[in-house]
Amino acid sequence: MTSQHDSYQDIRDGIRALCAQFPAEYHRKIDEARAYPEEFVDALTREGWMAALIPEDYGGSGLGLTEASVIMEEINRAGGNSGACHGQMYNMNTLVRHGSEEQRLKYLPKIASGELRLQSMGVTEPTTGTDTTRIKTTAVKKGDRYVVNGQKVWISRVQHSDLMILLARTTPLADVQKKSEGLSIFLVDIRQAMKSGMEVRPILNMVNHETNELFFDNLEIPEENLIGEEGKGFKYILTGLNAERTLIAAECIGDGYWFTDKVTDYVREREVFGRPIGQNQGVQFPIAEAYIEIEAANLMRYKACSLFDAGAPCGAEANMAKYLAAKASWEAANACIQFHGGFGFACEYDVERKFRETRLYQVAPISTNLILSYVAEHVLGLPRSF
Ligand SMILES: Cc1cc2nc3c(=O)[nH]c(=O)nc-3n(C[C@H](O)[C@H](O)[C@H](O)COP(=O)(O)OP(=O)(O)OC[C@H]3O[C@@H](n4cnc5c(N)ncnc54)[C@H](O)[C@@H]3O)c2cc1C
Repeated sequence: MTSQHDSYQDIRDGIRALCAQFPAEYHRKIDEARAYPEEFVDALTREGWMAALIPEDYGGSGLGLTEASVIMEEINRAGGNSGACHGQMYNMNTLVRHGSEEQRLKYLPKIASGELRLQSMGVTEPTTGTDTTRIKTTAVKKGDRYVVNGQKVWISRVQHSDLMILLARTTPLADVQKKSEGLSIFLVDIRQAMKSGMEVRPILNMVNHETNELFFDNLEIPEENLIGEEGKGFKYILTGLNAERTLIAAECIGDGYWFTDKVTDYVREREVFGRPIGQNQGVQFPIAEAYIEIEAANLMRYKACSLFDAGAPCGAEANMAKYLAAKASWEAANACIQFHGGFGFACEYDVERKFRETRLYQVAPISTNLILSYVAEHVLGLPRSF
């Protein structure tokens, strides 16, 4: 079922072959142990998939976000979780598009070879939440360095990355005309930072997702690690955020197909009252409905991808794709667990694990309410409500 043949078939075949070496039991055991899928991410790196978005001149494959999204979709569709490695995909264009030639030459070939990982992005803060322009982490220029103080929360893959893109305020909110001004982004050398001013405290959470609180106490970042112009960081970070929303949409679509395939197989076989449960329309309809929604969300995902790859504004489409895909995968997850009956709760079926994983995307990287509010204000022109 749902075997798409599209122009990305080579990528799909490549990822499926790699994922076949890491079957459901692998991801289940990693989940049970709350471990990081090192071997899986290493294999993706070795085969060059993690360098998809790095231009060929710097050692990568020079692919677009569309292709990257197919890679992420296939990982989730195969029963894995791209959350372990999608950071490198959504951060990459921030560095490629807004970094200097010097930064590109210094970092991209090493990321392409796997010597360095760019898996982390530090935006969210505990006291400001989604109100990103009010973040309190500051970076103050002192000579040839920036000195960072503040706190972040939910910063993922820090322990499995070498580099992090960090958003901090360089001009106080009171001194800027627009609140989106005066923010800057930096490339942080994570190992170095952990020895000199950045503390990492892991957060145990519902999903097996390596995420952390970060505390900055006079962390010094060399000025050459500023990406782009000082004060313009909010504009640059949107590149990463739009890429992230679009990639998450693709991951949710991968999850959605996983759930519909899994439940369809199950209800076809499972017999209760002398017939397959899948013969009952009460069982068929929620699965069919979820499938329709996944297919529809997929169209918006490709629209967002193609706009992003063309360098065109894609905020609305990236948000809408993420909204539709997260909703569709969640409905598919609910149908899948429901029609597995009690077995849906048994870890060995993988349904409960994927159910937890896809639930995250109602909240992160942007919550459903905030997408609705974005569309109401920025697409429909309704008055700003906050
Ligand atoms: C596992 C995990 C991994 C993450 N990884 C990263 C990462 O790597 N880097 C990073 O920077 N961040 C990361 N995040 C943070 C994530 O992006 C945020 O949790 C998310 O954007 C929501 O922000 P918040 O938690 O501060 O919620 P809040 O902003 O406090 O919002 C809480 C709830 O209130 C609702 N709400 C808030 N304001 C309004 C409003 N005006 N109208 C209607 N509803 C409203 C929201 O919809 C939401 O449901 C991660 C989070 C999780 C859980």
